[in-house]
Amino acid sequence: MVRPPTSVPSDRLLAAAEAFAEARHPAEVLETLLAQAHAALRVPVAVWWVPETQAEYPAHPTAQVGEGAPWPDEAALRAVWPCGAGQVSPAGGVALLPFWAGEGGGRGLLGVAWPQPPGEEERCLARQFAAQAAWQLGQLARGGRRDALEGLARAALRLGQATGLRATLEVIAEEAHTLVGAQQAALILTSGEDGTPPITVLSPRDEGAAEHGAELLTPTGGDLTVPLLGRDGRTPLGLLRLRDRGAGAFSPEDERLLTPFARLAAATLEQARSLEAAQAEVQRREQAELQWHVRAMELEGRIGAATHELQTRAAALDAFVAFSEAVGTQTDVTVLAEQAIRVLRTTLGHVGAGYYEPEGRLWRAQVWSDDLAPELVAQIRAGLPADLPPLAQALASGEAVFVDGWDGEAHALPSTRHYGAGAFVPVAIGGEVRSLLAVGTRAARCWTEQERTVMRAVGRSFQLALERAEATALLERQNVELAARTRALEAFAHLTGDLAAQSDPRVFVRRAQEVMLSLLPPGYALYYEQDGERWRNRVQVGDVRNAALQAFIDAGPRVGQTPSVDLPAATQQPYYQDAYARGSDTPQELVQHVSTVASLPVLRRGEVVGVLVAAMFEGRPWSRTDRIILETVVSHLGLALERAESVALLAERTAELEQANAELERSNAELEQFAYVASHDLQAPIRAMTSFAELIGRRYGEQLDERGRMYLGQIITSGEHMKRLVDDLLAFSRVHTAQREPEVVDASEVFDTVRRRLQAAQGAGAQVTRGALPRVLADPYQLDQLFQNLLTNGLKYRREGVEPSVHVWAQREGGMWRFAVRDNGIGIERQYWERIFVIFQRLHGREAYEGTGIGLAVCKKIVERHGGQLWVQSTPGEGSTFFFTLPAA
Ligand code: ADP
Repeated sequence: MVRPPTSVPSDRLLAAAEAFAEARHPAEVLETLLAQAHAALRVPVAVWWVPETQAEYPAHPTAQVGEGAPWPDEAALRAVWPCGAGQVSPAGGVALLPFWAGEGGGRGLLGVAWPQPPGEEERCLARQFAAQAAWQLGQLARGGRRDALEGLARAALRLGQATGLRATLEVIAEEAHTLVGAQQAALILTSGEDGTPPITVLSPRDEGAAEHGAELLTPTGGDLTVPLLGRDGRTPLGLLRLRDRGAGAFSPEDERLLTPFARLAAATLEQARSLEAAQAEVQRREQAELQWHVRAMELEGRIGAATHELQTRAAALDAFVAFSEAVGTQTDVTVLAEQAIRVLRTTLGHVGAGYYEPEGRLWRAQVWSDDLAPELVAQIRAGLPADLPPLAQALASGEAVFVDGWDGEAHALPSTRHYGAGAFVPVAIGGEVRSLLAVGTRAARCWTEQERTVMRAVGRSFQLALERAEATALLERQNVELAARTRALEAFAHLTGDLAAQSDPRVFVRRAQEVMLSLLPPGYALYYEQDGERWRNRVQVGDVRNAALQAFIDAGPRVGQTPSVDLPAATQQPYYQDAYARGSDTPQELVQHVSTVASLPVLRRGEVVGVLVAAMFEGRPWSRTDRIILETVVSHLGLALERAESVALLAERTAELEQANAELERSNAELEQFAYVASHDLQAPIRAMTSFAELIGRRYGEQLDERGRMYLGQIITSGEHMKRLVDDLLAFSRVHTAQREPEVVDASEVFDTVRRRLQAAQGAGAQVTRGALPRVLADPYQLDQLFQNLLTNGLKYRREGVEPSVHVWAQREGGMWRFAVRDNGIGIERQYWERIFVIFQRLHGREAYEGTGIGLAVCKKIVERHGGQLWVQSTPGEGSTFFFTLPAA
């Protein structure tokens, strides 16, 4: 059966042809083939592709569309190929249609899986698609080579046109990328010889990817790297690296294409780099030159400013020096002002100036330059008002005020209308503006900085000169005062020198008056003391030159009617009358020859004791120096009187004391004498009484009854006690009367003697011990007595049931030895520590402890007589320690 020619849908084929024509790479051709076939046939399709470089078909389809087709294995594929014709089974199944792209284009198989027998139209379509793919692949293979050459030419052209390193790099990356159809291109430059940093440049498409965070240069396809070498063919400039070729791996063809491109790129790069370096150098130099220019200009400016400043300072300094030289040590203000104006005029040339001092609300010119117009001179002599704005400003601030563009009319100084600029330079001393320099110029309307500095400098030097003048005046005044004071004091030294010999205060007053008059102009001096209603002139030096006046003075002016004397007495302040108020206190006719009077109160311990009046015949006011002399003399007179009084008082007291002492000594001596005599004289009758009582006891004791014998016993005991009392009293009174000169005594020897005596008297039971005892300055008999009393007491005041023991030791204390006598007896309560040393003071009855209460009083007397002290410390129930001090030998 002849089947009618199959009508292949031409629109589908046309669309396929257009799609194939769009494909730029073999992979795209294969993609188009599968897409078109699947769209037209609606069955699974696959393609096996063998590029020219390869011999065998791959085991699995290179690409496929649609699932579940039973694609043949490798052996089946191999069988298909040599026959060169597509096997399309009429019964359905897999049809394999080979297609060959021609020389250098590679070959392939299109597989179509028909589930049922395909129609002719469908078979035809499949063949057509395979054929179109083959043709397009062949086109690409041929065209590729041509394109490559074209591409290379275009790249060379673009490289040639690229300006600058960055642009060149971008062109290289872009062109390399286009030349071989890579997905990614990177140009990596090593650092340049001149230290330029390494650079990595990506093709524009990859930059986009980089911006979106995609990882760059991830090897997803092939990789082709071409070195970029310098002109010498050795120096590495960097690498041109391409990745992920669009279809399949990079071919040797790509490498061949890239190698010349890389050479061209390297050469262009080198050129661009050197050009860039050269440009950078030029730029750097230009920059440096510019900076140098700027600096030079700055420097010039600074030097200019400094020069100007120096000139200004030099001018000010010159003016200062000129002024200082001109005035020298001059202290006259007028001369200083004249010099200041002269210096201003010589330094500034065109100025007129005036020196002003205040008079009430006006500032009057005292000195002015001779260029001023008479009209102006008249005005400034009459005075400028203090509230003239610039003047007021200068006075308030104490700083110079400069007025540029002076307006004479506006300042109510029409005579200054020709002046262009004015200046007011205040001269202040101690913060107070004392005077002022006013300067004006007709030559300019503005003061230059230099002129201002000069004016300030002159103002300052003027001020310094004035300060110096003032300091000099002050110094001179102080010198005069000092000299006066010295004179007055020297004169008074004579006065107080006599102090010891003189106790009459009037002698001092006379001397004070003499001193005063010797230092003052001719006159006389009076010294008034109040006597009830009258002032009595007690001391007078100098003749009053008028007998009636003298009589008036001697009669005693009335208190309350004599201001010259009343006033200083009441106020305790000096009263100076530069012009004596004649008639105020004395009949006027008597004092016509008296011109000045000073009356000064004389104070002793803050009390007015008199008023010293100095009257001068000469009519001159009291100067500061006069006042100093008067006040110094009077105040010293007061002091001298105080001292004289003290001396007199002291002498009086001393005399009283001496008398009291003498009386005391006498009564003491009398007492001692009495005690001595009494005790001495009592000894014999007591002795007689006790001996006779004993005699009665021995002879007639048998005849007496018990009571009689007891009475006799009492008489004997009392007699013995009386004897002890008298003996002790005698010893007490003898401490003074029988005293001997102290000598060097070995205390240990004295102690040992006393101990032997005590042990003999008290038996061996007495425990008396000592440490090392020193040599002292003492009366040996009294030291014996001292030890005897203290040791006896130590043993006597024993505690019940305790063997008594006394220990003595000594310790050095400065120039003295401190002895301690410690016992283990009953002790003494603190409140009795003083009392026991008083004569007859006992703490116990005689029944408890025998004694007279005199022993410790004797001890105290002995120790004190030797310049030492005696005291006790004790703990009741434990024992006592008696301490005494004696001078070391
Ligand atoms: P008397 O002759 O009574 O001992 P003293 O003048 O020696 O007189 O002593 C005065 C008093 O001091 C004594 O009566 C006694 O009470 C007290 N006294 C003196 N020595 C001691 C001592 N070592 N221990 C305790 N009491 C003492």
